[in-house]
Amino acid sequence: MQYSKTISLECPHCDTKCQFVQVDSSHRFCKSDELHHIAFICTNCQGIIATKWNASVDNVSDFQSRPTSYGQCLNSYYPLVGDWKPRVNLSLITNNEVKDDFKEATGCYNNGFYNACMMMARRAIQQEMLINKAKGDNLYQQIELTGISKKLKALLHKIKNFGNHGAHPDFCLYDENGNQIEDKKEFAKLSLEFLDRYFADEYEIDSLVENAPKSEKELDS
Ligand SMILES: [Zn+2]
Repeated sequence: MQYSKTISLECPHCDTKCQFVQVDSSHRFCKSDELHHIAFICTNCQGIIATKWNASVDNVSDFQSRPTSYGQCLNSYYPLVGDWKPRVNLSLITNNEVKDDFKEATGCYNNGFYNACMMMARRAIQQEMLINKAKGDNLYQQIELTGISKKLKALLHKIKNFGNHGAHPDFCLYDENGNQIEDKKEFAKLSLEFLDRYFADEYEIDSLVENAPKSEKELDS
């Protein structure tokens, strides 16, 4: 598709073929993927999408002023639906595989893929158990046999359950009265929040303690 300030696309929010208008001042050239990123808004449902464009020029005003001169062409677009962000400082998660799984889980949630989010959150804890060399044939045992506190184990078991729910259509979840509950968005959000809490306890507390002012006695030890 050629570039224009008004474009027609299948809207991922309202599932209709819609007109989109460019959001003013949202155009940036991304040095990381070398594509032009521009936000557009659906004139039907007002949902926002991120679009990425190929072009042979990286200058934004050249791209805008001569829309057909630099091979401008739509590369991809996706809905912006969520803005969940981890509270934990991600740089403290030293293992990149665990960190990448957590980031992917967050990306799934923010794009509305809740089953995928729960599965990725489960994957992150399994990755974490493998790195900690936790013994056990399955994730339940690995969590049980790891050296973490009872409270954190309970938290990880909940993330595992959400992951099972995301992966298996017949793995149901219930409230305290035994009524089945079905709220994938909420489950996915809880998976992320529990994971965030686990990382904060496992990684952040050590760093906070290490960087805090020390007593004379602590300096000597
Ligand atoms: Zn729409």
